[in-house]
Amino acid sequence: MGFLEFNRDGMGILEVICGPMFSGKTEELIRRIRRALIANQKVIAFKPSLDNRYSVDHIKSHNGKSFKAYVIKSSRDILDHPWMDYHVIAIDEAQFLDDDLIHIVQHMVDNGKRVIVSGLDKDFRGEPFKVMGELLAIADVVDKLYAICVKCGNPATMSQRLIQGEPAHYNSPVIMVGSSELYEPRCRKCHKVPGKPSLEEVLANRRVKEIV
Ligand SMILES: [Zn+2]
Repeated sequence: MGFLEFNRDGMGILEVICGPMFSGKTEELIRRIRRALIANQKVIAFKPSLDNRYSVDHIKSHNGKSFKAYVIKSSRDILDHPWMDYHVIAIDEAQFLDDDLIHIVQHMVDNGKRVIVSGLDKDFRGEPFKVMGELLAIADVVDKLYAICVKCGNPATMSQRLIQGEPAHYNSPVIMVGSSELYEPRCRKCHKVPGKPSLEEVLANRRVKEIV
């Protein structure tokens, strides 16, 4: 990660920090923001609103560090801010933003900005968040962080979703705000998704779609 902070002579760069919940993504984002500030760079940060509130809030890591962030309802809201006046643009929880983010981030990088995006790469089923997949593909630098599996101690790359203490069913909605649910980091072996379609079912489904 060291070369990121070298003088880039006005060249834009996209850095993506991803991984499961509890892998320290936001902590790493804040670490990079702090180092940019030490280097006298101007930083602006954004995070999505999940409850339609529009305000200034903070990016917060589990270890208590924070940085001021503008809360946005859609990716396009970023363009209402004077991002050209900043050296570094940080976006947290990007998995909850819409696909416009890909084009907006590309535009900012083309204009010489250092854009740092942090977010979950996969949902609780272990399937990619589309917007993150595309950002990972166009990124210059990717850091996939991992947590520690609470069941067995292996590196955890998955977010286990629990509803009333039980692994959440495959068909439960991806985003469920304010319910009695819980997440914990798990490795692939300990990650459980009841109702997950088998390979045969997935392939049969794809064939139906092709025929239609
Ligand atoms: Zn495990």
